[in-house]
Amino acid sequence: MSRAGLYAHIPFCLTRCGYCDFNTYAGLGHLSAPYVEALRGEAALAAASWSDVEFTSVFFGGGTPTTLPADELLRLLGHFRQTYQIDPGAEITSELNPDTVDPVYLRTLLDGGITRLSMGVQSFDPAVLESLERLHSPDSARRAFAAARRAGFANVNVDLIYGAHGESLESWGSTLRDAAELDPEHLSCYALTIEPATPLGRKVAAGLTPAPDPDLQAEMYGLACQVLSAAGYGHYEVSNWARPGFECVHNRGYWEGRPYLGLGAGAHSYRAGRRWWNVRPPQQYMSEVAAGRLPRGGEERLTDDERRLERLLLGLRLSDGVPVAWVDEARAEGFVADGLAERRGERVVLTDRGMLLANELVLALAG
Ligand code: SF4
Repeated sequence: MSRAGLYAHIPFCLTRCGYCDFNTYAGLGHLSAPYVEALRGEAALAAASWSDVEFTSVFFGGGTPTTLPADELLRLLGHFRQTYQIDPGAEITSELNPDTVDPVYLRTLLDGGITRLSMGVQSFDPAVLESLERLHSPDSARRAFAAARRAGFANVNVDLIYGAHGESLESWGSTLRDAAELDPEHLSCYALTIEPATPLGRKVAAGLTPAPDPDLQAEMYGLACQVLSAAGYGHYEVSNWARPGFECVHNRGYWEGRPYLGLGAGAHSYRAGRRWWNVRPPQQYMSEVAAGRLPRGGEERLTDDERRLERLLLGLRLSDGVPVAWVDEARAEGFVADGLAERRGERVVLTDRGMLLANELVLALAG
């Protein structure tokens, strides 16, 4: 039986952060109950096609899943368990924003079967949080983290973003040290990217805010590698660090090319070289499901070459790299000589410096 990941998209947020390009909406909280109903409906409609699969992870992402009442989120999980074969030991993650949770809420999630939290902290510098238009403060992030521990969560991820306007290397260094001091099991560090269709993208295009400086972001990435490795974290994917045994099962599935089913507005799915996605507006998504139709927005079938390139790109992002047989060996030797890659037995892996250039190197290595 093949293994897969299950993703459920909750497209509600308290406010929209200026840099965010996700399919998420502020002010639609009144739709949460019918939206959850639609998720249950879509799960049922998709069930027959996924009956031969065991799900080893469930991921509630968004948006902000914790804008839903805890019992609503857990009822959804219960419905997924009835509808699909979910490994009893599956990793079950919920994303959260620090300002949306309290100890009772978190305890309810843990008791109801959520095994992992992924917390959007982004920075411990108030000026950087303001520049990112985040609602929470460094203290509320610390309080939410402490509440997660008090509730009993033993697997917590902290998400950080680097390169916002006004963030210095020193400020990023303190954010990294503050995050490591909390001692989460997992950290994700993402470079801020400017998406043209966002308010921040429009400000950058109008010259009102500078775009992130790529050289500074490269230094920040190097600092993350240094600080987190000194704090004992393994760098197992370009943007992800974990204590041994706490690598994210769900995201690892994406990087290893395993199938995944995405439920919810705009969610993407993948299986056997075919990728498809749902319509994005929540209201349209709900109407499609209410009419008994799978809410398809589109689909594509990858060619063999596209699949090979994608497998290479995703594989090289991981610290265990890819088999030498997958790459142009002469080019790989060149990257080894330049300190961008290493040969480990019959595998090629990128160094920290190489990971920074992963996309460019992959195109060369694909031959
Ligand atoms: S909280 Fe997260 S998902 Fe919501 S708007 Fe901000 S960045 Fe986007």
